[in-house]
Amino acid sequence: MAPSVQELVSEEEKMAHRFGLKTDSLQWLVSEGQVRSGQSLSHLLSPVGVSPSTLHHIATEHRDEYDVRRMREGRPWWLFYSKEDSTAHHFVYGIDEREYVVFDLKGDLGVSRGRYPTETRRKFVAGEVMGSLYQTLEDAGHTTTLAYSMSQVYAWTIDFSRIQPGDHFRILYERDWVSDQPVGLPRIVSAEFIHRGRNFPAFAFDQGDGADYFDETGASLRKAFLKSPVEFSRISSRFNKRRFHPVLKKVKAHLGTDYAAPHGTEIVAVGDGVVTQASYTKGNGKYVKIRHNDTYTTQYLHMSRRNVKEGQAVRQGDVIGYVGSTGLATGPHVCFRFWKHGAQVDHLKEDFPPSTPIREEASVAFRKLCAERLAEMAQLESDDALRLAAVGQ
Ligand SMILES: [Zn+2]
Repeated sequence: MAPSVQELVSEEEKMAHRFGLKTDSLQWLVSEGQVRSGQSLSHLLSPVGVSPSTLHHIATEHRDEYDVRRMREGRPWWLFYSKEDSTAHHFVYGIDEREYVVFDLKGDLGVSRGRYPTETRRKFVAGEVMGSLYQTLEDAGHTTTLAYSMSQVYAWTIDFSRIQPGDHFRILYERDWVSDQPVGLPRIVSAEFIHRGRNFPAFAFDQGDGADYFDETGASLRKAFLKSPVEFSRISSRFNKRRFHPVLKKVKAHLGTDYAAPHGTEIVAVGDGVVTQASYTKGNGKYVKIRHNDTYTTQYLHMSRRNVKEGQAVRQGDVIGYVGSTGLATGPHVCFRFWKHGAQVDHLKEDFPPSTPIREEASVAFRKLCAERLAEMAQLESDDALRLAAVGQ
């Protein structure tokens, strides 16, 4: 029986084809391995007869294409010999999961990089958080690295170490695959995370300066904090480690910034977060403390009235209380305190990440994209529900 065309193609030829090597009439022999500790290109190629001058040429003349000093332990390599004369023709080094570099050892001694064919697959998951987001996604059959991608998208908005039962989500994401292996991290296309009863949508969008994440209003999810928690106020006392306290009449560090404003003026959250304290002490008076993310926490003192409860999720600009002079205060003001990695700092001296909102000229395209993504997620969620119902019957 005549062999099919498929059978005529040897594993060696398939491999040559994978790296874009011309097979011509040459038949290949292939050996493969992994770079061991301390091995360089010459360690690998000298024993198979590649001359020092060839090695020198490759290492020095093609550094722009690939610097052989960057070869790392554990990465795979392939060596292609011709069947006729058993000499080494090509050396291939696997740079990472997506990319390889081919060294021509016989012809023009060229060095060229190549990429494996990549397929992007889109997936959807919706559900309620049970335990951690990590665990919930794993139980639903999705990669746990998706939880990491989510934590990056929402780094400024949601503290995933504090998510609670009842929080739920819809996530549309993409992942690259190379020869049936997922590579790299999942990319969130769009998501909705309902955290403590509030929806935090996220849409990936590129308005010309790289993909970023925005909420439904077009605000960047990488939030800058508001400059102050009260509008139309003036700073009456700055952060000062050696201040003479007006009430206590002694030197005492002032680890906050005072904003003087009329009694009853609205005090707003300077960023998204969760209220960790809405309380009263003799010194602070009525106060509110908000945890924004792993890095930042803020606190607002001397309120006449609090407007939030402990455990409540707040968004930037939400009114959390009103200016007063409860506690140790000479007049109506907010003492605003700012923590970074657990240490009190002067927020006026901090550099925060930039957060450009959707620009006017991109707003139509952005709105259209939001509507499409929301419709797509709603459709996928109802498809999933129908599928589950069918399985249940
Ligand atoms: Zn103060």
